[in-house]
Amino acid sequence: MSEKQIGWKFDNTYAKLPDSLLTKIKPTPVKSPETVIFNHDLSKEIGLDFSNVDNKEIALIFSGNKLPLGTETISQAYAGHQFGHFTVLGDGRAHLLGEHVTQNERRVDIQFKGSGPTPYSRNADGRAGLGPMLREYLISESMNSLGISTTRSLAVVKTGEEVTRETKLKGAILTRIASSHIRVGTFQYALITKDRNNLNKLFNYTIQRHYPHIKNAKSPATELLKIVIEKQINLIIDWMRVGFIHGVMNTDNMTISGETIDYGPCAFMDTYDPKTVFSSIDLHGRYAYYNQPAIAKWNLERFAESLIPLINKDENLGLEIASEVMNSFTEKYKRSWLEMMKKKLGLIGNDLNDQNLILDLLTWMHKNKADYTNTFCNLMNKLSVKNKIFNDQDFLIWKKKWEKRAALNGNTLANSHEIMKNANPLLIPRNHIVEKILRDAEEKNNLDGLNEFLKVMKDPYKTFPKIEKFQSTPHTKKETYVTYCGT
Ligand code: AMP
Ligand code: MG
Repeated sequence: MSEKQIGWKFDNTYAKLPDSLLTKIKPTPVKSPETVIFNHDLSKEIGLDFSNVDNKEIALIFSGNKLPLGTETISQAYAGHQFGHFTVLGDGRAHLLGEHVTQNERRVDIQFKGSGPTPYSRNADGRAGLGPMLREYLISESMNSLGISTTRSLAVVKTGEEVTRETKLKGAILTRIASSHIRVGTFQYALITKDRNNLNKLFNYTIQRHYPHIKNAKSPATELLKIVIEKQINLIIDWMRVGFIHGVMNTDNMTISGETIDYGPCAFMDTYDPKTVFSSIDLHGRYAYYNQPAIAKWNLERFAESLIPLINKDENLGLEIASEVMNSFTEKYKRSWLEMMKKKLGLIGNDLNDQNLILDLLTWMHKNKADYTNTFCNLMNKLSVKNKIFNDQDFLIWKKKWEKRAALNGNTLANSHEIMKNANPLLIPRNHIVEKILRDAEEKNNLDGLNEFLKVMKDPYKTFPKIEKFQSTPHTKKETYVTYCGT
């Protein structure tokens, strides 16, 4: 099949930005590429047709051994606050192939992760392991199915080479699709480059690419800040809704588009505990479940600081304006959180006691170590597995109060369930399931579990005959689940 038939249409605008914001560099070819998984649904969504391309050819393309025509590979420079400390970073193991423009004029970044060293590698090898790349594939596609804004995964290809971490891993490259890879950290980087014009150029580029409607606003920089705040609030609310914990909310892992990016030591909370942390490197709980909104605000403050020179020539005035905009975060977040939780409980209208009702349920879940996802499934009568915890007297008393509240404003329980259906997934990628899938794939080359899971996860809000397998929680005594940055 020819390149033309596949449908690539590259138009690489980011590569035209000033040299100091990027490096033109090619991926390092790999020994013997082999396709592990390819996302045909996603390829169709972005107007690419790989139906007649065999896995051998797919492996050549998505390993970087045979780059499509029209690509202009670059690595992007960025900086970031990692666990609160400012560092200059950049794509240390990623290459942007370029921007593919779909038939309906959607522009998407096509990026390799694990494709070889770059000037930003800082002594690391530029490579990635099969397990972590499959993990990003699985979780990002699950997030998309859950209706949460995210980068997507198009392919995972084995390199035929080993990567050395704590142990030897099989090497792999992930192809990531994103509406862009512009991060808070990209602005932080542009701000500290010698040429002041870099910030201006990145800013104009970002507006043109993502939010052209604010180009002629009185203060486009202030508008951009407001938009990114709103996007991030919506995103974090969605994470909180499904119990997702990102794990490394550094400013370089926060996009301007509002997509979830960089799935490293992320995981979904099972037993409800607001202090849940999965990442082995997050020793102080900076990125714990309950702390995600506060960290999002902290990161957005770093973004606001980068925008100050663009908000006003007078930096003091710029700071004042940015601070005022930032001050709206907490109130907006609280309001959105309450609305989201009310949807999870199918509550219509307002009642003075709503917040307490919600907090009472969360407190009960915490105290009784109830499963976060399954508690809401139980309330919808959609839990296929039995758990005697839901016979607990306190829970039953709470349930009565909830039913009484839900009935206000002429509402019916059936209607509440209808609202709840769209807010509460029946399925999430449970940690024990994800681990088994990845183990089978890595150790036994067995992808059955991954393919089966991706299939059922396509519609996580709907029930199906064998759902128990995916709703059950580990029966064995639970050890603390830890995810490693193990990249
Ligand atoms: P992450 O934790 O994936 O957000 O990455 C943080 C930074 O480390 C980014 O600049 C990455 O490009 C870089 N990095 C992570 N792993 C590697 C690696 N194996 N080789 C080179 N750079 C890496
Ligand atoms: Mg990152």
